[in-house]
Amino acid sequence: MTAALKALVVVDVQRDFCPGGALAVAHGDEIVPRLNAVIEAFERASLPMFFTRDWHPPNHISFKALGGRWPPHCVMETRGAEFHPMLEVPMGAVVVSKGSRADAEAYSGFQGTDLERRLKDSGVGEIVIGGLATDYCVKESALDALAAGLKVDVLEDCVMGVDLQEGDSERALRRVEESGARPVQSAQVLRQLGHDL
Ligand SMILES: [Zn+2]
Repeated sequence: MTAALKALVVVDVQRDFCPGGALAVAHGDEIVPRLNAVIEAFERASLPMFFTRDWHPPNHISFKALGGRWPPHCVMETRGAEFHPMLEVPMGAVVVSKGSRADAEAYSGFQGTDLERRLKDSGVGEIVIGGLATDYCVKESALDALAAGLKVDVLEDCVMGVDLQEGDSERALRRVEESGARPVQSAQVLRQLGHDL
């Protein structure tokens, strides 16, 4: 059996989820430098990378005006939907848009997308995942990755949560770890990839 490839999955590091954005995660931008270090290590190791983004039509079901729970955010083709300006998205990375149908919410990058097929087509057996927000899109993406039979390492220092209820992020991390994901720190991943800081 050949070793399955490891891929990096960066979830929803977009302007609207960072301070100043329409649905800002407090301190959400603070993960960007650590994520960038991991991105650079994956790039040097020529390992595949996938960047998910919330990409909603203006009349998306998750918006308050349509009966949803969130203010309008990440409307496709708008500034708020852009990746955080400091995030290094490499040329060869795959961008996965989700939540693009007006009538369906999609917290997970696997929901209504071809992410699973693309990972499997690339020979990926294990993902390292980080991004925003811990208690929604990172959690649901990690759970779907596990359900798809992938090994999942959660970059605990490269995620940040909304915490509508205090402790939501902690509970989300425990949940994905109880489901089989492994907590890792970015420094550990850099070491594994042979790029000690
Ligand atoms: Zn959304």
